[in-house]
Amino acid sequence: MQNGNTAAIYCRLSRDEDTNQESNSIQSQRLMLNEFAKRQGFQVVGEYIDDGFSGTNYDRPDFKRMMEDAEQGKFSIIITKDLSRLGRDYLTTGEYMEKIFPRLNIRYIAMNDGYDSLSENDSNADFAPIRNYFNEWYAKDCSRKTRASFKAMAEAGKFIGSKAPFGYVKNPENKHHLLVDEEAAAIVRKIFDYAVSGLGYKAISKRLREDGILNPNAYNNIVDPTFYKSNYWRQPHDWHPSSIKTILTNPTYLGHIVNGRRKTRSFKCKELIRTPPEEWIVVKNMHEAIIDQKTWDEAHKNLKRRKKSDNNGSIQIFAGLLKCPDCGYSLAYSRNNAGNHNGSYRCSLYNVKGKKYCSSHYITYNALYQVVLQDIRRKAFVARKFQDTFVHTLTAKASEGLREKAKKAEQDVKRLSTRAADLEKVIGKLYEDHVLGRIPAERYDNFLRKFEAEKEQVESELKAAEEVLEEEKSQLDNIEHFTEVILNYADLKELTAPILNELIDRIEVGQKEVIDGEKTQSIRIIYKQIGYVEMFSPNELFCDKAV
Ligand SMILES: [Zn+2]
Repeated sequence: MQNGNTAAIYCRLSRDEDTNQESNSIQSQRLMLNEFAKRQGFQVVGEYIDDGFSGTNYDRPDFKRMMEDAEQGKFSIIITKDLSRLGRDYLTTGEYMEKIFPRLNIRYIAMNDGYDSLSENDSNADFAPIRNYFNEWYAKDCSRKTRASFKAMAEAGKFIGSKAPFGYVKNPENKHHLLVDEEAAAIVRKIFDYAVSGLGYKAISKRLREDGILNPNAYNNIVDPTFYKSNYWRQPHDWHPSSIKTILTNPTYLGHIVNGRRKTRSFKCKELIRTPPEEWIVVKNMHEAIIDQKTWDEAHKNLKRRKKSDNNGSIQIFAGLLKCPDCGYSLAYSRNNAGNHNGSYRCSLYNVKGKKYCSSHYITYNALYQVVLQDIRRKAFVARKFQDTFVHTLTAKASEGLREKAKKAEQDVKRLSTRAADLEKVIGKLYEDHVLGRIPAERYDNFLRKFEAEKEQVESELKAAEEVLEEEKSQLDNIEHFTEVILNYADLKELTAPILNELIDRIEVGQKEVIDGEKTQSIRIIYKQIGYVEMFSPNELFCDKAV
């Protein structure tokens, strides 16, 4: 029949009791008691509820039903929230506790009062479990209240985070208000620009690493000595795709205050979990935006598209490479307009702000593809057929300015080396004269100071000139390296992202123009090691291959 861990829970609420007090409601009592029973390993076999009955009278329907079941041994434990739930008449209540329950072999627990008849009969009783439970409940209640006050602040559009999001700082005069941190904001804009150009989270983090951009931890550690996150100095330029995602999906950059993007799992477990966007509390235009809505939409359109067609990545081979030479923004990809089923590109500033700010710089994917493919193939072809000429042409053209500098540097090195040797001699002679007493000490000091200053000057100029020569040499190495690489691509049939990334730094797509009745568009392909080399007229390429 009855076994040691079967329990009945009893809840009571009278009409005149304060029903606004959440923790007293029947629902809350039930919840609490069931939770408690579960944690204690009790099996709840009966719930008895008297809603609207005073505690001074024991003539309550469910209380009576519970006592009948107790007589029949249906359970061995009775739990109430506190003693007063059982009854407010302490004499009658005492009778149940002292006489009736012991006779029925019932263990009685008044949870919040920390009363347990089992422990009560044991002088070494340990109240800890119950007390703890009570404390927990109390804590939970407080945590709920804290949350409620946070919610009120959130709804008023106040910033309540402990740190401002990357790109902002807290207003020193009002910690609930954000100010733009221009330096970090520039990085945020760059990230959005990359997203607009079609790069995904991973590719953006790679770009930022290559660009040597400080990550938020490293940046914050530099501007705020109290910030400190461990390990930041080891990889200050190491960006993780997840931090890119965090930035690209944070509506704070639109000027909005967003709270409730994460919450703690429970009052005990501080682990943060993400909440769905419909649970976010968004209050618009509370501070200066870093990103405008159109840029945001453009970036998110791309991110969504990438998500859908990750295996169809071929279209995105140009992502991050295309620049508008007029305004410096990336070109934005848009798919499938005007029957170009591979899509097309436009200046993203033009896209976002219109023709007052820039022109379209429109080019279709197919046209661009042909121009770039042909340019690589022709360079590869020339490199293979006329390797010396190719290297020579590159050296001559790609480093024209450098060549001039190098020539001068070469002469400088000659002249300065001679002068340095002369000075060495002069100083030696001067010293000799001084030692032999041919020159007064004061004049010796003056001369020495003068010559040594000149020597120092000559030596630093010499070093600079040698560096220029060194630079020219490394430019030559670059050209040789480039030549080796491009030789492989003479028969290139298909462009891929790895090939483009190996060879090309960026592609500047000019605006279409009509010159002498002919449509032209300048497309400058800036190669990684050699820069821009106009070996072939872009017009020629564009006109015969791409229109
Ligand atoms: Zn532009």
